[in-house]
Amino acid sequence: MTFKELGLAEPILEALQKEGYTHPTPIQEQAIPILLKKKDLLGVAQTGTGKTAAFSIPILHHLYEGISLRDNRRKVKALIVTPTRELAIQIGESITAYGKYTGLKNTVIFGGVKQGKQVNALKSGVDILVATPGRLLDLMNQGYITFKDLEFVVLDEADQMLDMGFIHDVKKIIAKLPPKRQSLFFSATMPQDIVELSKAMLGDFERVTI
Ligand code: AMP
Repeated sequence: MTFKELGLAEPILEALQKEGYTHPTPIQEQAIPILLKKKDLLGVAQTGTGKTAAFSIPILHHLYEGISLRDNRRKVKALIVTPTRELAIQIGESITAYGKYTGLKNTVIFGGVKQGKQVNALKSGVDILVATPGRLLDLMNQGYITFKDLEFVVLDEADQMLDMGFIHDVKKIIAKLPPKRQSLFFSATMPQDIVELSKAMLGDFERVTI
């Protein structure tokens, strides 16, 4: 199986080639076709499996294919929520790399720093937002972010969110998203609380376990 055989848009294939990715990893091979069909996904997978690309590539593909719908240009159409600043930065860098020929813009927001630069980035407009839960909720409550145009949400490392005490914030964030959306849920482990959260967040979903 190659990335080309998965049916991805040309600018994404070009970027993957530039990254030196020749073949999809097992999670990518399983998850990308499900996500291209616009189904919800429960991915039970650890970091290091290539899961960032597994969710980023189909989102970039869909947003690129819909780019002619110019009225939602630079509105937040995809939200990725992840527990730590380090993960958020890493995901943002991956999306920048895979999406570099798509014309789509991403930004990363996280706590522990002043909010000014992040607010300015939001004001200038973004297609894909990567965020940690606390700062995200904070900026949402201040009115800097609307999810009117949201089409995709990814909850990354859900079990770590629970361990870090973010679960209430995550539930509040999800409650503010439009119900008509594609939802992706990733966790390395599936304790009961996480099973329940996944059921609350996902619609009709397919499961991939690596
Ligand atoms: P992740 O599990 O998303 O943190 O990815 C782990 C590492 O694998 C990252 O450094 C990626 O750049 C790399 N990677 C992801 N997908 C592929 C692929 N298909 N081929 C080669 N490297 C990859």
